[in-house]
Amino acid sequence: MKTVIRIFLTLTVCAMWHVSAAQFNQNQVIAHRGAWKVEDLPQNSIASLERAVELGCAGSEFDVHLTKDDVLVVNHDNDYYGIDIATATYAELLAKKHPNGESIPTAEAYLREGMKQKKTKLIYELKTSKLGKERTLHSADLTVQLVKKLGAEEWVEYIAFDYDACKRIIELDPKAKVYYLNGDKTPAEAKKDGLFGLDYHFNVYKKNPTWIREAKNLGLVVNVWTVNTQEEMTNLLDQDVEFITTDQPALLLDVIRNTK
Ligand code: MG
Repeated sequence: MKTVIRIFLTLTVCAMWHVSAAQFNQNQVIAHRGAWKVEDLPQNSIASLERAVELGCAGSEFDVHLTKDDVLVVNHDNDYYGIDIATATYAELLAKKHPNGESIPTAEAYLREGMKQKKTKLIYELKTSKLGKERTLHSADLTVQLVKKLGAEEWVEYIAFDYDACKRIIELDPKAKVYYLNGDKTPAEAKKDGLFGLDYHFNVYKKNPTWIREAKNLGLVVNVWTVNTQEEMTNLLDQDVEFITTDQPALLLDVIRNTK
């Protein structure tokens, strides 16, 4: 009888897990800086996030910097239309707008927008501060605080080039899904340090042709950046990578549909 109950409970838990996991889109597509290309939207804008959600991407990637007055903001480069983010206040950044009329999004506004839906994950890149390690780690601390405050843990997966920042995020939130970007740690090292996955440039996997398989065997999730050609997309899909980060999310969705 005990065994029957145990089996019943296991099946129930699996079914519940399946329901919650199935809410997010199950495909390999991560829109790099949002889906900006087709309609020429600003990269990392709220509009490009919304477009990635509409397309049905599994995730939408965005880049986060820290201002001088400790506001986390979403932008790729160190400067926002010529204003240096690390040495400017948030108020100073509001002097410029994206061509679509948006101001630079705060990470908080970006996450709040992303949490209005539950199909597309929010792939949060913590940018390395040009002002040094202390500032990068402070950015990691503020990031985890923000995600906890908003209750955004289910939506957010983290990526970073700074390995210490990756480890700090895991230390602050052991359940956080953190991927390392820089390509200079073996799958075994990343696993040992508690990372959830690798997110390396496609040339890194080419130079280390066993790494995708090794990572998967260790239970790490494999993402690849930034893949924009159909040939490379097909090559990586053939190797069963979990995610492909691309400037061409619509193309990748087509490639996936056509290879099924
Ligand atoms: Mg990025």
